[in-house]
Amino acid sequence: MAATRNGQVRALIYARQSKDNADGIDRQIEDCRRLLAREGIDPDSARAIVDNDVSASSGKRRPGYDGELIPEVEAGGRSVLVVAQTQDRLLRKPREMEDLVDLVERTGARVMLVRSMFDLTTAMGRAAARQAAVWARLEVEQKAERQQRQAVQAAERGECPSRRAFGYQPGGDVDPAEAAVVRDAFDRLFRGESLVRITDAMNAAGLPSVRGNRWSRKGVAYLLTSPRYAGWRVYHAGAEDEVRVRGTWPPLVTDAEHEKAVALLTDPVRKVNTLGTARRWLGSGLFLCGRCEAAGELEQGAPVTMRTGRRTNGNVRTYICRAHAHLSRAAEPVDAAVVAAVEARLARPDVASLLAGATPEVAGLREQADAIRARIDRAVRDYDDDVIDGATLRAVKARRTAELAVVQRKITAAARSSRLATLASAADPAEAFRAADLAVQREVIDALAVVVLLPSARGASSFDPATVDVRWRH
Ligand SMILES: [Zn+2]
Repeated sequence: MAATRNGQVRALIYARQSKDNADGIDRQIEDCRRLLAREGIDPDSARAIVDNDVSASSGKRRPGYDGELIPEVEAGGRSVLVVAQTQDRLLRKPREMEDLVDLVERTGARVMLVRSMFDLTTAMGRAAARQAAVWARLEVEQKAERQQRQAVQAAERGECPSRRAFGYQPGGDVDPAEAAVVRDAFDRLFRGESLVRITDAMNAAGLPSVRGNRWSRKGVAYLLTSPRYAGWRVYHAGAEDEVRVRGTWPPLVTDAEHEKAVALLTDPVRKVNTLGTARRWLGSGLFLCGRCEAAGELEQGAPVTMRTGRRTNGNVRTYICRAHAHLSRAAEPVDAAVVAAVEARLARPDVASLLAGATPEVAGLREQADAIRARIDRAVRDYDDDVIDGATLRAVKARRTAELAVVQRKITAAARSSRLATLASAADPAEAFRAADLAVQREVIDALAVVVLLPSARGASSFDPATVDVRWRH
């Protein structure tokens, strides 16, 4: 070690604090100084570079190692001697060993360890160092596995998840102020208040979410459907062996209240109500093109619907064939004709027969969708709590999302029938239809009939209701 004897050595001590059972920073530096003294280097001339609490399994940059040590080695080359207590202080992953080998080969700098010795200038030394890095990595990974097993065991015992929920303190004790807000939100929901109003009330209470944010409708919906408030801990969510365990923390709502809240917030009618309001036209995307039908296109694949437009010579709104633009009808008289036809149909005494075949199995489907959605939510929570890993979460999500799409399509169809059933059971169904908003009217029309727009007679100056072909489904 010529450089050591000629006194030109620039000694760098590297120490790293982490959560594992390693010695503290002071002990590491002390050990390194002693080694330097044994090597005949003045320990006081060494510069100590320290990283705090950057764990071995995280991929985070180390400000000391990456920001100071490496540049010093690059700059100092063969005159540099790096000293660390053990290899796993210096390196966190086997990959970092390769970088260090490259660095040493490129710069000629030397590395010494207090508790083991490897010489990166020889093939045997590098092999030994790589071996050591692999075994150190194994230890880190085993620790992660152990922690995951412990998380599962904690879940099995119904222990409170590590991530605190609004309304509770860390550890699961009730936070009285937040719990009152939670209780109020449930009460408002059961009184029939909309999610928008409940969200406003929660924000007015002035207590932010666990992440310190204002409440969003999504966040409030998540809260009101979380099984945690009924005292349930769920693990292996979404898997075949999914288990629900009674938690050790005090519930804020009863099981019945939890189920009621889930049912209310996943009610398909509530959802449908918020959809479709953007459409200002009764028949856009709903009424069909009569010319396309005459040409046989309605029989082949998806029927051609009308889109909306305007006449160039004025402010007349129109329906135009979406595919070929070969048919255009003034929209207002068409809408009026369709509405009149539907009202007449709903005024007939046999309106109750519309219910036949439209009995919805919405409730059953809703339960299915709830269960799937809850499994996805639980998988996300389990991931947050380290009960499952990212790959499992992705697999669960993909599988459950596909299932959900199927059920959701059935719900949409059933909700349409349910809408019709509600309307048909009104005291005056025609009046109820007239009073409904556009989205509801569109759904009722769709459930009741197929509307095909036909070309008007050439040169006709007035609107002919016969050119609006309303074909009843029932
Ligand atoms: Zn057409």
